[in-house]
Amino acid sequence: MVKKAKKGKIIIDSELCKGCYLCISVCPNEVITVSDELNQKGYYPAEFIETNDKKKNSGCTGCAMCAIICPDVVIEVYRE
Ligand code: SF4
Ligand code: SF4
Repeated sequence: MVKKAKKGKIIIDSELCKGCYLCISVCPNEVITVSDELNQKGYYPAEFIETNDKKKNSGCTGCAMCAIICPDVVIEVYRE
């Protein structure tokens, strides 16, 4: 039997993000990037790379490394 890969997604509260990018540095699947829009605090927040193709997963496994390392606890992780 083929084992299904774990799928996950994250939601980053971009207004609370302070742009430290620790989450980007720990994500093993490189699915977080830097937004090109400033938030209200004046930082370029981290942004989840989503795919528009519903059949394809972005590559996030829901490992939660990003949420654990975030000093401001602004990342929520969801697993399928
Ligand atoms: S670790 Fe948290 S505060 Fe730092 S860039 Fe990522 S979401 Fe923003
Ligand atoms: S849950 Fe894991 S794979 Fe998904 S964005 Fe966070 S660090 Fe990357």
